[in-house]
Amino acid sequence: MDSLSQIPGIGPKTIDKLKKLNIIKPIDLLYHFPNRYVDFSHKINISQVKENENVTITGKLIKFQNIFTRSHKNLQKAVVVDKTGQINLLWFNQPYLSKIFKVGESYSFAGTASTFQNQKTIIAPVHGQYNTGKIISIYPETSGLSSAWFRKTIQNFSSKFLEQINETLPPKILQKYQLLDLKTSLDQIHCPKNTKILVEARNRLAAEEILSLQIRSLLSKKDWLAKKPKIKLTISPSIDKKIKKLISSLPFKLTDSQTKVLQEIKSDLINPKKVTNRLLQGDVGSGKTIIALIACYITHLNQSLSLLIAPTEILAQQHFQTFQKILKTFKVPIFLLTGSQKSNFKKIPKDAVIIATHAAIYQKSKFENQVALLIIDEQHKFGVKQRSFLGSSTNLPHCLTMTATPIPRTISLTMLGNLDLSIIDTLPQNRLKIKTFLVPENKKNSCYQWIGDQIKKTKCQVFIVCPFIEESETLTSVKSAIKEFEFLSNQIFPDLKMALIHGKIKPEDRQKIIQQFQSNQISILVTTPIIEVGIDIPNASIIIIQTADRFGLAQLHQLRGRVGRGNDQSYCYLFTESQNDKAQNRLQFLEQNSNGLKIAEYDLQTRGPGETFSVIQHGFPSLKIANLSDLKLITLGQKILNDLIQNYPDYDLSQITSESLPEQNIINN
Ligand code: ADP
Ligand code: MG
Repeated sequence: MDSLSQIPGIGPKTIDKLKKLNIIKPIDLLYHFPNRYVDFSHKINISQVKENENVTITGKLIKFQNIFTRSHKNLQKAVVVDKTGQINLLWFNQPYLSKIFKVGESYSFAGTASTFQNQKTIIAPVHGQYNTGKIISIYPETSGLSSAWFRKTIQNFSSKFLEQINETLPPKILQKYQLLDLKTSLDQIHCPKNTKILVEARNRLAAEEILSLQIRSLLSKKDWLAKKPKIKLTISPSIDKKIKKLISSLPFKLTDSQTKVLQEIKSDLINPKKVTNRLLQGDVGSGKTIIALIACYITHLNQSLSLLIAPTEILAQQHFQTFQKILKTFKVPIFLLTGSQKSNFKKIPKDAVIIATHAAIYQKSKFENQVALLIIDEQHKFGVKQRSFLGSSTNLPHCLTMTATPIPRTISLTMLGNLDLSIIDTLPQNRLKIKTFLVPENKKNSCYQWIGDQIKKTKCQVFIVCPFIEESETLTSVKSAIKEFEFLSNQIFPDLKMALIHGKIKPEDRQKIIQQFQSNQISILVTTPIIEVGIDIPNASIIIIQTADRFGLAQLHQLRGRVGRGNDQSYCYLFTESQNDKAQNRLQFLEQNSNGLKIAEYDLQTRGPGETFSVIQHGFPSLKIANLSDLKLITLGQKILNDLIQNYPDYDLSQITSESLPEQNIINN
């Protein structure tokens, strides 16, 4: 069976719905895993039914009524008997049941009993062979396809789908690591015989998913190691002297962490045999830009070109200004290349530093052969942008990627094996901890008032991040930002200078606003949530994040990092209307923690496997079944991988590509 349309009961409409879930082939149905289970395997007599226990009963239906109450509610009531007693059943708004059940016939029902109108009643029981007398699977909900639909389809056809599954691991490996075989696992994850085998099935499939990530990462590392630097760089004594001179000209002393990572990057750059592929991670405000600048300067001193890519135009502008300021007396040609700023390529000398937005990719043919060093700033989707700049040539520029997204150890063990990691783990010394507060709805106004007073008293500046509506900035988000801006400037802060900034504002105008904000002609900058990563305005010391509960923790931490960059005490106010415990706990964690790594690890643990969170929002991929914070599982994957490499030289690693892995998780280079 190789097409969904061959499955009886699946027509074009269902095929469309399945497509939305990335289910294209019958086999994909097997990889659509349940996210939870209810155990209805306990089959008992009616007299044994106790409240709050999941049970299955079988008996004769002796009464069925479809009732409309005076308050316009529609109920279905039934009574079932077996030789030991009788029990009531109750449904809401399911009149079609009267066509399904016939009084006098026998049926099985599964559910949980409680007391309704003083009588023991099973509310909303399920019925039929696919749903009773066993552990039943609950699937991620989607429009139009119910869990019951998946249960029925998969139970009916799984033996057919399973015919196409081939074991991916050698039998001895399965034995040694006590792993269930793949076929049984894919069968039992949907229709588990008991909880013990279910746990084993999930464990095997999770191990497979992790292993596939580790293999991908290993294969791309091998690929990378075969490449050579396009342009060889050196650090001669005279170059070294010039680097030292630049460093001593800075208005601050490099932190020990910065010095350490700089050393790592320097030794990468001068290695003639290996192309640098390094990820520089440092919490927001830890000072990654200056490291990038020094790397570019080294490249310049080698008469070679460096290219720094920033994710947004504003950030590119900001880097451009920083570079110009710091390198002013060092005679480095610096060029800006963005969607709105076209440079004349003929004028760019080969020892220049080009600072660009992603738009530069369209013009890369004009300079790509000369680039000796490529730096990508604020990289959240590891590798993706980088790859588009590199092509597939065997001679590559040295690559440095910078991110504020902390990398939990489990992640680096799983998927970043192809990258060398440098970490700036301390902040510059003068920083005060940002004070973070959760602000419930009824305290909003007093918070605004305090901020208004503060601005007048201290001339501090404020970011207000508008409600989170959609991930990418669309008209809806922009509209809501405009509305919020009007409300705030008319009702709340009528006597303060405010400006609004979002993606639909022309780059020149946006730049003007940023400049005015930089020079403190504007006190409050209202922005959409996606507007800025990396923006550095040390005088801004207050940030309000509206609907904070709708952001990922990592993103909130990034946004919070827009303040706390100067010498003054900074404040972050998280507005939320949510009473939800989980949301409250997450925000409280952020309130009490400022270490990005801790926040990322908490984020990873609390969201659990299988929850589809966006990559952009969190920096990490969401897997189907494996938990990326599960160190035991990840260590198991590594052990198996090493075993395969050492003891099975003929084993083809690429056969574990895991059907279950969404495309977005491919993170090689
Ligand atoms: P990020 O790592 O988030 O990109 P930046 O590079 O933008 O951080 O640096 C944040 C701020 O800290 C900048 O204003 C920068 O000039 C300053 N800075 C960087 N390194 C140091 C240091 N060693 N001591 C003091 N300030 C520093
Ligand atoms: Mg930065």
